[in-house]
Amino acid sequence: MAIIRCPACSARMSSKARACPACHAAVGELTVEERDRLAIRRWRARAYRARNFTYLAMTLVVAGMLWWWFAAPQGLGLPAPLPAALLLGVGLVAYLASWAWLVWLKFFGRPESGGGA
Ligand SMILES: [Zn+2]
Repeated sequence: MAIIRCPACSARMSSKARACPACHAAVGELTVEERDRLAIRRWRARAYRARNFTYLAMTLVVAGMLWWWFAAPQGLGLPAPLPAALLLGVGLVAYLASWAWLVWLKFFGRPESGGGA
């Protein structure tokens, strides 16, 4: 017996259970290959979301830089205008967070597949 994740809601469950205890999806009727495929599809969707989040964060940083650049007096003069500093700060934090998320997904969140690879 192994602990697997429900392909529907990703709750932890026994590989012997026929249905998920959390969402009652009939997991027992899926073959191992189907479960692997579902888990990989879910992982891809998550990685896709994480990547989109990275792009969003980059957009915030770029918007902050542009705001800072075009705010009078022109150029990256100090102190930066507050909205630009806020955009930059939030963007940078979100960027770091999204990278940590991506790295986590890549090294720890990847579904184990039954057949390897
Ligand atoms: Zn479930």
